[in-house]
Amino acid sequence: MCGVFGAVLPPGWGESPVEAARIATLGLFALQHRGQESAGLAVSDGEQLMVYKDLGLINSVLDERRLPSLRGRLAIAHCRYSTTGSTVWENAQPTFRLGPRRSIAVGHNGNLVNTRELLDRLAGGLSRLPATTDTELLTALLADDPASDLVEALCRVLPTVRGAYSLVILDERRVVGVRDPHGFRPLVIGRIRPSGEATTAGSAGRSPVPADELTGWLLSSETAGLDIVGAEYVRDVEPGEIVILEEGHEPRSVRFAPAQPALCVFELIYFARPDSYMEGVSLYEARRRMGIQLAAEHPVAADLVMPVPDTGAAAAAGFAEGSGLPYREGLVRNRYVGRTFIQPSQAMRHRGVTIKLNPLRDVIRGRRLIVVDDSIVRGTTTQQIVALLRRAGAAEVHVRISAPPIHHPCFYGIDTQIETELIAAHHSVEEIRAFIGADSLGYLSIKGVLNALDLPYERFCFACFDGNYPEPVPYDAARRKFVLEEEVVATGG
Ligand code: SF4
Repeated sequence: MCGVFGAVLPPGWGESPVEAARIATLGLFALQHRGQESAGLAVSDGEQLMVYKDLGLINSVLDERRLPSLRGRLAIAHCRYSTTGSTVWENAQPTFRLGPRRSIAVGHNGNLVNTRELLDRLAGGLSRLPATTDTELLTALLADDPASDLVEALCRVLPTVRGAYSLVILDERRVVGVRDPHGFRPLVIGRIRPSGEATTAGSAGRSPVPADELTGWLLSSETAGLDIVGAEYVRDVEPGEIVILEEGHEPRSVRFAPAQPALCVFELIYFARPDSYMEGVSLYEARRRMGIQLAAEHPVAADLVMPVPDTGAAAAAGFAEGSGLPYREGLVRNRYVGRTFIQPSQAMRHRGVTIKLNPLRDVIRGRRLIVVDDSIVRGTTTQQIVALLRRAGAAEVHVRISAPPIHHPCFYGIDTQIETELIAAHHSVEEIRAFIGADSLGYLSIKGVLNALDLPYERFCFACFDGNYPEPVPYDAARRKFVLEEEVVATGG
């Protein structure tokens, strides 16, 4: 996943020289669920770039003490969830190159699938890379390109890059947003105005500044990032489009490839926030309708419907609505523990679930439960939840999943790249039911997902469910995440 944010503020926008950094950080807070391994910010004061990044959650990396040094009206921000390269400081983003051809900082949401091929194109190869991510490689290729302008360099380099990339790129004068031709990952444009829009810069004897010159422009992975800073949604960055944000200008658009839309449907089912909108759809509403569909596809006699908090809540509400059964909270989540799925190691995931959920015994005891969740990846988390509910006295536990079974790995930015770790890749629904220890198990069908979204199949990537990969994946899947680190070992670097 990863979350990206960008901000360009005009000269008349507020007094503080760190306002762009502040807005980008606040916007990034709304995207924390997209990546919890590291966070970072890059700013430009019009002449030079400054980058600050570190491992950890956003509020531990970017706080008030850092802001005074992050001056400038242009900023990009990033929070990371690793899909290529390990969780070390060097792999935190934004990545950056300072001259000689151009200075840029890059924040990337997604995962490239031709990293090895791109490495062959980099003069000096691995020895030029200070880190082992596909983003570092892309940054080096863009910085090296002989084109006189960054946008021209993007138009030359991006057609050789394959996979998923929603990018925010900063140079001295611009913030640039890019979405790959499939638009696997979301990226939206927002508009922000200072409070008291009618205020002018006339107090120092100058002419009043027209309102348009007080407009700032933003980029965000999700619309929720715009909401949190009081901005309005303008439109999505289109698949295959470059959007250039500059002080005092409307966003400019350059197309580098025809659009072949394949937005990750899992963004709508699970990953993105329920208060975000994608494809014009409220994700809370979409998930509620998925729950109604699920109730129609997999009814069962029970006493109550409960979600696995928090991500199963909207679908559980829809299931209760569709089935006519009461909705209750039966598990309390410790909000200060990260999402188990997003942690980088299996051992951490195992530990996470036991410290994360606590059952409400009076709700559960003696009842036949329908437990709604949004996915089963390895099955171990669901197994532990079922065991937790049985220990709390549940009479029956019926698990319902508001997505189809994950049969295939994802190579486009979700960390399910190793097929052997996916329980549905090698087991039937009945075998999974037995493994998790539930009384019954039902998954929503692809048709059910599409009915709930009321959008055509062709707009989305469903590859992890049906194996229909929009972008071919060229080499051994299991090596993908650490491909550059393995190259370092292989070359003795
Ligand atoms: S393979 Fe699955 S998780 Fe990956 S982009 Fe496609 S739908 Fe999303």
